[in-house]
Amino acid sequence: MKEIKQFDVVILGGGLAGVYTALSLDSSLHIGLFIKDKIERGSSNLAQGGIAAEVEWDESRIEEHYEDTLRAGAYLNNPEATKILVEEAGKHIQNLLSIGVHFDKNEDGSLVTTLEGGHRSRRILHAGGDDTGAHVMRDLRDALSKRTNIDVYEDEMAIEILHNENKALGVIVINQQNEEVYVLANRIVLATGGIGGIYKKSTNEKIACGDGIAMAARAGVTIKNMEFVQFHPTGFYVEDQIGKTFLISEAVRGEGGILRNIEGVRFMEKYDKERLELAPRDVVSQAIHREMFDTWSDHVFLDITHKSKDFLTKRFPTIYQHCLENGIDISKDYIPVAPVEHFLCGGIGTDVNGKTSMENLYAVGECANTGVHGANRLASNSLLECIVFAGRIAEVINKEKNQFGKIDVVLPDMVFTHKKYNFKDIRVEIRDVMSKYVFIVRKEEDLMLAKKLLTKHYNNLKKIQVFSRYYYETINMVTVALIIIDQALARKDSIGCHFRLN
Ligand SMILES: Cc1cc2nc3c(=O)[nH]c(=O)nc-3n(C[C@H](O)[C@H](O)[C@H](O)COP(=O)(O)OP(=O)(O)OC[C@H]3O[C@@H](n4cnc5c(N)ncnc54)[C@H](O)[C@@H]3O)c2cc1C
Repeated sequence: MKEIKQFDVVILGGGLAGVYTALSLDSSLHIGLFIKDKIERGSSNLAQGGIAAEVEWDESRIEEHYEDTLRAGAYLNNPEATKILVEEAGKHIQNLLSIGVHFDKNEDGSLVTTLEGGHRSRRILHAGGDDTGAHVMRDLRDALSKRTNIDVYEDEMAIEILHNENKALGVIVINQQNEEVYVLANRIVLATGGIGGIYKKSTNEKIACGDGIAMAARAGVTIKNMEFVQFHPTGFYVEDQIGKTFLISEAVRGEGGILRNIEGVRFMEKYDKERLELAPRDVVSQAIHREMFDTWSDHVFLDITHKSKDFLTKRFPTIYQHCLENGIDISKDYIPVAPVEHFLCGGIGTDVNGKTSMENLYAVGECANTGVHGANRLASNSLLECIVFAGRIAEVINKEKNQFGKIDVVLPDMVFTHKKYNFKDIRVEIRDVMSKYVFIVRKEEDLMLAKKLLTKHYNNLKKIQVFSRYYYETINMVTVALIIIDQALARKDSIGCHFRLN
């Protein structure tokens, strides 16, 4: 007997995109929020720097945010979506404040703002100094716990989208008891986050396996711009460490941090005379990569020693403490840093209301490609993208709610095997291949080799269908890796964070 659940709306993902969608939907709607791990895990909780937003309606400042976003994205952005992003920012920040989010404030009650790479003015709002994501998500979880129309299921992973031709009807979930649950819904929202788990070093947690993107791809939904993987220039470098890498926020450069090579020489003027350390991430990551190559080293340094200990402990409490625990007092010592995978600019293609190419299926947050980031994301625009487009998805669904009813579906006969295989070797190889051949600088022959190596695993995995989180995470990782490789091969020129040597 198959277990069946039905909701008006099903949301996959408990990060900012998923939770803010849930909170923005009408409270008369019955919502199922499925999260494959604990709600506290995921990139939203790790965000440090903040949310970029012009809170007051000031046309010239909003226009400047728009231009900065396009410039960082190498003008490959969707102009309509980008306009919406910057214009609707203020409305959603006000909404977050009214929900109970505590942004950092000045003594007079105004919001504190800071500067980050690629921004021409101080428009980044933050919370808890450099612990924005954790603070915002904690306040939103409080609001979520008060909503009786939202059922939250932690440790329940969606594995497939149920669809009839091009119409989404629900998802199949592995529940906590390791059983199949068929979750039907009038509208399905994918908010499953990024892909950092396919690289050896990423600021993301390993659970970021691109699940939503892979599920959508299997269902025939359009996936776009996957070659634009953003590498953050300043992951905290620890020799031989792999996995989740601690991030040294862009805001450290925003407050005057200087990049120096292994010899202690400042180098950014060679790469971007005008913006120096505050150039967008693609420019800085590529500059560091070059500098490491030229100095036979695997890291460079970030120097913020000209700021006082008092300033640094207040402005960057988390970074100060983390570095100290690793033997670096950032008020006296240079911080060792190196680029690491950080953010996926591409994803499931959507229109400006978050609709995908499949009827009734929406995507939002890092798994979506609204087009606002173009070829490279401007710092602190991704939390903003989560709230603006989650708000628009909710608005559309709220308007359509009177059409909702019981879903008639003939459930597919999925044939699963139940094995305990953990596929660890394959996951290790995916991360090795992606980090070696599909990193900051890309070459045709490397991409072809990566494709050959990973296709072998994909074909083997496709032959079996194991009912387990291990299996689905592994096949999802290899699926998104191959999409990235194919789209990177298709784009022959260098633009934004896609750098082709040949
Ligand atoms: C260290 C770090 C610092 C950052 N700093 C900033 C910043 O200062 N400003 C900024 O704008 N951006 C920042 N970013 C980027 C930003 O945090 C993310 O892009 C954003 O939070 C993504 O939100 P999301 O809701 O899409 O995904 P996430 O917050 O990653 O949430 C994804 C959710 O989906 C769930 N999930 C995944 N697969 C499944 C499945 N199969 N079934 C059910 N659930 C599933 C996960 O469990 C998780 O709950 C940072 C990112 C990192 C990693």
